Amino acid sequence: MNSDTLLQELGIQDVNAGCYAAGWVSCGGERLESRAPATGERIASIQQATEAEYEQTLRTSLEAYHRWRMVPAPQRGEIVRQIGNELRRYKEPLGRLVSLEMGKILTEGLGEVQEMIDIADFAVGLSRQLYGLSMHSERPRHRMYEQWHPLGPVGVITAFNFPVAVWAWNAMLAAVCGDTLIWKPSLKTPLTAIATQNIVDKVMDSHGFKGVFNLVIGTDAEIGSRLINDRRVPLISATGSCRMGRIVGDAVSRRLARSLLELGGNNAVTVLNDADLDMALRAIVFGAVGTAGQRCTTTRRLNLQREIAGPLTEKLLRAYGSVRIGDPLEPSTLMGPLIDEDAVRGFEHALDQARAEGGEVLVGGKRIDRPGHFVEPTIVKAHRGMKVWREETFAPILYVFEVDSLEEAIALNNEVDQGLSSSIFTQNMLSAETFLSHEGSDCGIANVNIGTSGAEIGGAFGGEKDTGGGREAGSDAWKAYMRRQTNTLNWGRALPLAQGVSFDLGDS
Ligand code: NAD
Repeated sequence: MNSDTLLQELGIQDVNAGCYAAGWVSCGGERLESRAPATGERIASIQQATEAEYEQTLRTSLEAYHRWRMVPAPQRGEIVRQIGNELRRYKEPLGRLVSLEMGKILTEGLGEVQEMIDIADFAVGLSRQLYGLSMHSERPRHRMYEQWHPLGPVGVITAFNFPVAVWAWNAMLAAVCGDTLIWKPSLKTPLTAIATQNIVDKVMDSHGFKGVFNLVIGTDAEIGSRLINDRRVPLISATGSCRMGRIVGDAVSRRLARSLLELGGNNAVTVLNDADLDMALRAIVFGAVGTAGQRCTTTRRLNLQREIAGPLTEKLLRAYGSVRIGDPLEPSTLMGPLIDEDAVRGFEHALDQARAEGGEVLVGGKRIDRPGHFVEPTIVKAHRGMKVWREETFAPILYVFEVDSLEEAIALNNEVDQGLSSSIFTQNMLSAETFLSHEGSDCGIANVNIGTSGAEIGGAFGGEKDTGGGREAGSDAWKAYMRRQTNTLNWGRALPLAQGVSFDLGDS
């Protein structure tokens, strides 16, 4: 299928405006070209939004918020259920477009849309479970409880590597919570955002709520900055690099609003001597090579206990030799391209630094000579004195260390600034539990006998330290999208004060 037919199927050929505010808005900003990373060829171009269109979007989302919050949560859930069904209908073409525009292989592109469907289903159930607690008051004939109210328009900033799933994690939850959305996607993946907006638009239009989900595509300097500094937006949920997180966190905290930050990772797998090596091998290769190393949860570091380090490294080198690299839309491909030339330069630069610091490239290490932005999946034998592995390079580079003990592996796992995902391979229950305990991994995600990537939506997703501390998706992550109100109600005829305080006004 050529890209024009695909765009047509998703209804985005005629819509090239970079702004949706209860309908597509023609924009006055510069044109932005979307290019396929596998070929470098132009897919389509869109017109970016300016501050004027941003303002229109914001006003629309505010107006919609005042109506949307009055819809009972289970009814909002019913509308989200219909969005989930519409996504099911468009799973194939949307997954294809993700693969075409972002460069991840087709099965991952389809998986990304499945994740949108899963979180929609989750949100439907959640719409009847936005529970508050009730507490026993210390005062007689008093009732104390908490309830959760919608927040308002939520700004959602997304990264290129999960161009639609991360929006859905935020959007489906925020919508059942009664919020409206202003989505600012990555400029590297604008078409997937437009296609998603179109899919959702059909459902929202049929319910008279077109202004609940809005989209504004524009530069960080103009639109991004406007959004994060806008006092009318009580929550900014931002996914991307630690660099971006510092800017967003700073701006949002200066106006004392809330941010939900999902930032970079630098994730390690530990393999102990007693591990099932074949299982570990499969998980490591998927974690390190999958999505061409462009997941926040990508396996970037490997801590191998000394006895198995040699044999497992041999297996890895063999497996790396058989990774099929190429067109991400071709079903047999296992690894597609990097997103752009900057990413290729980042890969090359990291490897120059690794070599200069005494690292040894065991396999890979070069860009691949073909159109698009392809590089070889790479393994570097590393040591603790190097600096390069402390940073997240968004490319398929795996740094391998040898360790003597579980304690040393845990220390190495925790030695980086980021704290997103981590995993251990072991058959020993004591080692596994130690890794999961407070003495173990300091990451937001810690797994046993599973790799670092490929989280399910049911758990709260996010990381500690420089990863930003935010939690999205399952568990009680919904609480970020609502405001908690504590209520105390006196149903007696006296006015007792808390803590036994007396305040007697006499007969006045
Ligand atoms: P990026 O930081 O370059 O951009 C992310 C988003 O932030 C984009 O929409 C970008 O336009 C926006 N942005 C950047 N500067 C901004 C500013 N000053 N004001 C407002 N918006 C701004 O990241 P990327 O290259 O698109 O994505 C890769 C990064 O994202 C990696 O570090 C990866 O680990 C991280 N990531 C994290 C998670 C997670 O859940 N923790 C998920 C996916 C990606």
